[in-house]
Amino acid sequence: AKVVQEWDASHERMLQSGLLGDETGTIKFVIWKEPGKESLAPGSVYNIFYAQVDEYNGRLSLNLNTAMVMQEEGDIAVSGGEAAVSGAIVHVAPGSGIIKRCPVEGCNRALSRQNYCPVHEIQPKFTYDLRIKGWLDDGEKTHSILLQRDVVESLTGISLAAAQEIAENNPLGMDEVFLQMRDKVLGRYITCHGREIENRVIVNKCEPVTFESEKHTALLNRAGGAS
Ligand SMILES: [Zn+2]
Repeated sequence: AKVVQEWDASHERMLQSGLLGDETGTIKFVIWKEPGKESLAPGSVYNIFYAQVDEYNGRLSLNLNTAMVMQEEGDIAVSGGEAAVSGAIVHVAPGSGIIKRCPVEGCNRALSRQNYCPVHEIQPKFTYDLRIKGWLDDGEKTHSILLQRDVVESLTGISLAAAQEIAENNPLGMDEVFLQMRDKVLGRYITCHGREIENRVIVNKCEPVTFESEKHTALLNRAGGAS
């Protein structure tokens, strides 16, 4: 977990309190003054074992006095937690549609057109996957979204197998999948549920938005003003 915030001590016996985060979310932590206890460095990443979980007013926090804490090298992505955003898909970014992934265990990175993994070089035995990267406009703000395979399949009605068939047999190949999927999702109103990681919502579920005229007007005004 990464120390994402450090707060002023609210008690004289308190050595440090703040917020720890990882890819699943954030949680408050406390360290009480005790011989041998040291504070954590803000921005640093730690492996934490045997922390005691306290509950106060329905909120969980970690007491690190009993914990074994080891500092780690490097950085990790911290999630802002569960997110739900509603609006219109106003942009579908390149790299959406059917993609190839690196088959090396634990890698799964997207490959380039020439089947290159940024870490493992050329990978002719790639696996296929679907994703849509884009922007969702809620009328006030544009959210960066990443739709995962299940969501892409249900939203576009194009399965991974069907997309693979197009990619391997259509003259335009993977570009044809991109174009067909873009046609099906651009301008659609959806509600996306997922996790927010580094200012992007990783969407694992979505559903059509029921029409709300006020929001619709705001979006149209905004779209009209921007063009
Ligand atoms: Zn790789």
